Amino acid sequence: MNMDIFLTAEQIKRHAEFQDFAASNVEPFAYKWDRAQQIPDSAVSQLGAAGYLGANIPCEFGGRGWDVVTFGLLHEALGRSDSAFTGILTVQSMISAALLKWGTAEQRGKWLGPLAKGEIIGAFALTEPGTGSDLQSMATEFRRNDRTGGLVLNGEKKWISNGQKAGVFLVFGMLDRQPLACLVPRESDGFEIEPIDNMLGFRAAGLARLRFHEVPIPATNIVGKPGFALSHIAPIGLQYGRISTACSALGLLRACFEESTRYAASRKVSGQNLGDIGMIQSLIANMGTNLEAAKLLCWNACRAEDDHLPETFTTSMIAKYFASRAAVQAASDAVQIHGASGCHESSPVARFYRGAKITEIIEGTTQVHEFILGKTFVHNAIGDQRRQRPNPGV
Ligand SMILES: Cc1cc2nc3c(=O)[nH]c(=O)nc-3n(C[C@H](O)[C@H](O)[C@H](O)COP(=O)(O)OP(=O)(O)OC[C@H]3O[C@@H](n4cnc5c(N)ncnc54)[C@H](O)[C@@H]3O)c2cc1C
Repeated sequence: MNMDIFLTAEQIKRHAEFQDFAASNVEPFAYKWDRAQQIPDSAVSQLGAAGYLGANIPCEFGGRGWDVVTFGLLHEALGRSDSAFTGILTVQSMISAALLKWGTAEQRGKWLGPLAKGEIIGAFALTEPGTGSDLQSMATEFRRNDRTGGLVLNGEKKWISNGQKAGVFLVFGMLDRQPLACLVPRESDGFEIEPIDNMLGFRAAGLARLRFHEVPIPATNIVGKPGFALSHIAPIGLQYGRISTACSALGLLRACFEESTRYAASRKVSGQNLGDIGMIQSLIANMGTNLEAAKLLCWNACRAEDDHLPETFTTSMIAKYFASRAAVQAASDAVQIHGASGCHESSPVARFYRGAKITEIIEGTTQVHEFILGKTFVHNAIGDQRRQRPNPGV
């Protein structure tokens, strides 16, 4: 990727390091992991040893404490090789960001170090069999246990990434009709984990269905106050999830572009290179332009988060909305350019095609992004009109 003036020399150096890591430790195995629908523990340990699982965790807790642009570059580099693998990082960053902001000192001290080093894998459990986008309708329930002073958890979660490997789950539910989040260790009594296989893409992301039956929750595992879980705690995790997914989709978009241009430059059709045909050039022109646009939107979103700008929520939504849709288009066109050889499971573009669609579903679907962005843009315009209206008292 042609790095630009928006990145510092340090960020460019780190990106090269991330790309080397991906080329040696991820790219050669992505096909095998996808077929096996599993990422070996040894590969996850390498992520931990490199410090990548603690990219967004401050050094005082054993993380790398990198800025968000560097965090985004990591996700771009790994997303170029394997979206499912990058998903482990996404979720780890979501649970750590939520704990950093809203966890108690005890929770931060206990969990952040192991999360940073990869000694424990985290999962972020919001979605349920009956509800995904409409989180207010969650049916998972917490009940007070007057005897212990803690809570009791009942309910189900579904489509939870890392669920098969995770040692700790940040689970969202309702307590007296108020949203609440709690940490639930894997070994908790009454907690059952059922692997979900055969996903369209992200097949190696270790998805699981979780069932909670009278699970005892100590009061020390409650994160934040009752009523704050969906308005304060989930949004912090989802902000990191959106940035991570946008940058991972950007990496996937780059993968489609690089594979397509390479193929178009060498495949012969009617005595000429595929890439000399106008209609193929159109597909590649569109892909390359979207790649540049997505890159700028992603770095802009990362920088807004680094600088704590008021528009950080909107910029991350724009980056995720654009990059995921552009990745879907690019993956479809990459398969088209590769013809039949792009339709075999051994072709990387076939995997990109399946993986790209997932980026339009996770961390808020495309439609939810359109709903929120559309509303935001119109409200901003109403605010502008009010500010421009002359004061009747003057
Ligand atoms: C690979 C993968 C990994 C995942 N990992 C996790 C995880 O780690 N943790 C977790 O909690 N969840 C996870 N999910 C679940 C994911 O977050 C949900 O699938 C997503 O939020 C959408 O919810 P849903 O599937 O219930 O779809 P629904 O909410 O039922 O939506 C169905 C359709 O209706 C549209 N729609 C919904 N509401 C509106 C609206 N108001 N306006 C317009 N259109 C609307 C949606 O865009 C979609 O097209 C994962 C999913 C996948 C596929």
